[in-house]
Amino acid sequence: MLASKPVYKYLADIVFPNTCAFCGNVIKWDNILCEKCAEDIPDTFEGLIRIENTDGAVGVFYYESDIIGLIYKLKHGDAVFNFAELSAGMIAERLLARKIADSIDIVTAVPMHISKKIIRGRDQAELLGRFVADKLGKPTNFHLLGRKKDSTEQHKLEREERQSHAEEVYTALPKHRDISGKTVLICDDVITTGSTIRACAAQLKSMGAKKVYACSAAVSAVYKDRGDDILP
Ligand SMILES: [Zn+2]
Repeated sequence: MLASKPVYKYLADIVFPNTCAFCGNVIKWDNILCEKCAEDIPDTFEGLIRIENTDGAVGVFYYESDIIGLIYKLKHGDAVFNFAELSAGMIAERLLARKIADSIDIVTAVPMHISKKIIRGRDQAELLGRFVADKLGKPTNFHLLGRKKDSTEQHKLEREERQSHAEEVYTALPKHRDISGKTVLICDDVITTGSTIRACAAQLKSMGAKKVYACSAAVSAVYKDRGDDILP
């Protein structure tokens, strides 16, 4: 597995003890998982999801059982860096194995509305994007897409409603960097129906991106047993 053990972690460990990405037990400063969890990693997703407007999406864990709690923690809880780093390392492995990694020019993330970001004090998709970019040695740009203010809960919408809703919500930011001819990797915490990624990728392509790949820490459990090259 790709690993990075920056010294800031050692220094941070003096104030905030390092904890296992899964169970939260205190671990050595340069580890991500405790020994028990490292031997008992849940089943992971190995396929490539074919989402319209993208050139494919990879993900790591299935959005089920303990992973639901970890994704919730990524959005709202403390001590989220190890889970984000673990997921990012496994995303990077998948992108390298599929020979996608080298082609990526820019890493970005599904945007969160600024008001939500202020309330939460973080942006989990951007956090994941930063770790993925670090693992791949690629530049980030989180000022490509914007999100209109919107109080609709995506998961409460029907599939078709989700798509038209997502298309209205994500926009190209004015004065964004020119991405003509570039290959962009867009990160999100979870991929379920793919409607968010589809809408964001449509924007990135209309902004000139040559290729758009997507990645997430978790994917819906409906993608289990669907083979290697699957449609959402
Ligand atoms: Zn553990």
